[in-house]
Amino acid sequence: MTQLGNIQELRDKFGRVHNYLRISLIEKCNLRCSYCMPAEGIPLSPKAHLMSAEEVLEFARIFVGLGVNKIRLTGGEPLLRKDIGTILEGLSEMPVDLSITTNGLLMDRHVDNFQKLGIKKINFSLDTLKEERFQELTRRTGFQKTLDNFELLHDKDFDLKINTVLIKGINDDELVDLVNMTKDYKVSVRFIEFMPFDGNSWDRSKMVSEKEVLDQLGAHFGAERIASLPNEDNFTARKFKIAGYKGDFGIISSVTNPFCGSCNRIRLTANGRIKNCLFSNKETDLLAAMRAGENVENLILESILNKKAVRAGMDSMEKLSDPALHSDNRSMIAIGG
Ligand code: SAM
Repeated sequence: MTQLGNIQELRDKFGRVHNYLRISLIEKCNLRCSYCMPAEGIPLSPKAHLMSAEEVLEFARIFVGLGVNKIRLTGGEPLLRKDIGTILEGLSEMPVDLSITTNGLLMDRHVDNFQKLGIKKINFSLDTLKEERFQELTRRTGFQKTLDNFELLHDKDFDLKINTVLIKGINDDELVDLVNMTKDYKVSVRFIEFMPFDGNSWDRSKMVSEKEVLDQLGAHFGAERIASLPNEDNFTARKFKIAGYKGDFGIISSVTNPFCGSCNRIRLTANGRIKNCLFSNKETDLLAAMRAGENVENLILESILNKKAVRAGMDSMEKLSDPALHSDNRSMIAIGG
């Protein structure tokens, strides 16, 4: 293997420095969102192939040594992991900005621990405010519990974002209701464009574009009441606010208008593979390397150096729409969204 020397930061060929690691802790989920996983489920890795809590923490230490200062936990549903307490405690001792993406269903059991460890940033996935639709979309019950837990986190002053995947004809009639949540809740609602993954029946016509979102909201609230907010560093969502409302909303247009130019993200799957882009079907098995005592830092840098400029090489709508190009990319549930 090439010895790459003393790596200080994860800079790719395009000059992008990667300081943000998303770690998937588990492949299982307690929901079955149709846009995320196929109805028949996904083949799960044998338990021995998944990272243990100690291995998660060891990887986190390695990445921190390579300049990562932001870690988001995801899954599957990260709160389903029995040893989540050990992982959160270990990570909260590292010099990173720590956050989690969750469907919120189990949050009431963990809220005290989050407060104790000072973890405040929570992305809460919620695609509908209608109970029947929740059951259709997630193929599970739990709507009221989800809302109660959102309320609980809000009352306890967590820094909350709501993730809503918009799908035409499914939930795009709730745009106004979801934005109305920002009237009294200090929350950021982020509308995510529906993305193609293995087995999720994606097609371009099911996507709701940024323009359609703004047109629909403008027609309801009045375009003059929608203010554009300044972009954050390495932003993924263009942000807006309705004048006088406490929260804001954003549009994550990874498909129609990707933010690849400022991408600073790396993904580690629950079975310890690095993915240099959400859209890539190439993975490097870091866990096997770590278990074999190999140099993991070099593999990480090689993966970053192989990163393509735009969406793993799917730089046009035509390529993105070609099933052959995204069909062997695992579904979001297995990658960690
Ligand atoms: N279980 C957790 C949750 O529900 O937030 C974390 C995992 S989930 C895979 C992470 C995020 O990926 C969610 O916000 C979900 O909405 C998003 N997601 C899943 N499939 C998607 C798709 N096809 N297009 C866009 N976003 C997707």
